[in-house]
Amino acid sequence: MRIRITDLSKEREYMHLEDLIVKSRNAQVKWNQLSFEDKSEKIYSFATYVHKNLDQIINTMMLETGKPKFEVLGSDIIGVFGLIDFYSKNAKEILSPKRIKLNYFIHKKSIKVYKPLGVIGIISPWNFPFSIPVGEVLTALFGGNAVILKPSEILPKTGKLIEECFKNSELPENLVQVIYGEAETGRELVNSSVDKIIFTGSVATGIKVAQNCVQNLKPVSLELGGKDAMIICEDADVDFAVDGAIFGGFVNSGQVCASVERIIIHEKVYDEFIKKIVPKLNNLKQNSETDVGSKDLGKIIAPRQKEIYKEHLIEIKNSNANKILTGGEFNEGETALKPTLVLCDGNEKIWTEETFGPVIALKKFKTIDEAIKMANNSKYGLLASIWTKDEVAAVEYAKRIEAGTVLINDCTFTHALGETPWFGVKESGYGHPVHGEEGLLAVVQLQHIHFDRFYKPLIKPLWWFPYSESQFDFFRLFLDFLYYKNLRKFSSLVKLMGKFVLHLIKK
Ligand code: NAD
Repeated sequence: MRIRITDLSKEREYMHLEDLIVKSRNAQVKWNQLSFEDKSEKIYSFATYVHKNLDQIINTMMLETGKPKFEVLGSDIIGVFGLIDFYSKNAKEILSPKRIKLNYFIHKKSIKVYKPLGVIGIISPWNFPFSIPVGEVLTALFGGNAVILKPSEILPKTGKLIEECFKNSELPENLVQVIYGEAETGRELVNSSVDKIIFTGSVATGIKVAQNCVQNLKPVSLELGGKDAMIICEDADVDFAVDGAIFGGFVNSGQVCASVERIIIHEKVYDEFIKKIVPKLNNLKQNSETDVGSKDLGKIIAPRQKEIYKEHLIEIKNSNANKILTGGEFNEGETALKPTLVLCDGNEKIWTEETFGPVIALKKFKTIDEAIKMANNSKYGLLASIWTKDEVAAVEYAKRIEAGTVLINDCTFTHALGETPWFGVKESGYGHPVHGEEGLLAVVQLQHIHFDRFYKPLIKPLWWFPYSESQFDFFRLFLDFLYYKNLRKFSSLVKLMGKFVLHLIKK
């Protein structure tokens, strides 16, 4: 199939995807011949271009996404710089060959080496249209790979902007190629000859992507949706938790896979929390069509989300409208939903399904066991947070929570930390993390190299042909030695050595 290689705003150009992949492969071979320092410098030139053109980049993204200016910088761009900084300093060591200590085979050596996978296909969503795809592309480049990126069709200008940033850096031609289109283009990329797919998006699409990859045994990493729980304990600093919840639930207008979508709050602090959070939510300022970017809240980026918000809210309104503690209404023109807080029983869609909008559902608890059970009673497992003054207990609670990351007295933000792994459990993720050491190891192929310390060993390995009774006895003793402890282990070792010496004498 021919796929689009120009953005939606220009006259369209098409090319066969496999022809693009050939170009990528040629670029990757040359890229991988460069030293780490040269690669790192060229990647840094990407940062230089973005830094130089920052205002224009922020402006383009702000106008297309309707996000506040601060969020474009603070949630979408700055993390990429942190990621470049982290990998520039650490990728060489992470990817350097590692010796494996062998327990008993002291005459042999094993090393682990890491090789690029080749060409990586990256498919990304619309909510953080810069930090998600760019972070993943840069990780792949640090791993010595080439990339074909399909950004979200919902924000073609930002997709084009990313392409231009890569084209205008000193990175080799065709090392990063961008393709444009909807689901069909994504499917084509998944089914192409690329060596791995890194997909970020919804669970429903992720499952289709994984199914297609598995058919070809193509490695795949999926970063999917969430329904993150914030547990507010009885001893939490309520003012701090209120501000944390507002950030966690409403940054990017709630269009965050890791936004706080469920608050599980101790019954004793519930009243104080509600009294404090509601006026603050009502004070958040909404950007308008004429004043884009300067206020707290952006617009609904993907209009199709509106239907999900409506469906989730109607169910609550029909059951008991009083459960909507604030918000629940769209602005004029339905470009934004007012910050919404909803009290739940726990069976409602707004409690169980990802809303991906400026909505927090809330439920009370009495005991921490009950709170952890509520948090875990979800098909998702991306992030969670615990708010308490007892950090020691919090770490123990964290270990019991089924989530890729658990934050204590903080929430939502760790995607911006390039040095920490980002991944979900249950339906929130599959395959490997992105970011951090683990994210880099996910874009390379591990290889184990094993050899004898001598070019030709003194004796040929005891497990080679021809088989014999004495060989069997020797292995029987070796098994005893591995199995036994203390004195019996020692006595097996003595017998084993004796057998070995006999074997040498016979030779
Ligand atoms: P989506 O699944 O609709 O689309 C994601 C990407 O996949 C888009 O580029 C789309 O064109 C492409 N696509 C669609 N169908 C495809 C197919 N059959 N094969 C291959 N590609 C296909 O998701 P979205 O609406 O763009 O993003 C919102 C979702 O992403 C939310 O569920 C959110 O939680 C999730 N998300 C997760 C993370 C994370 O790190 N875990 C981060 C951001 C967003």
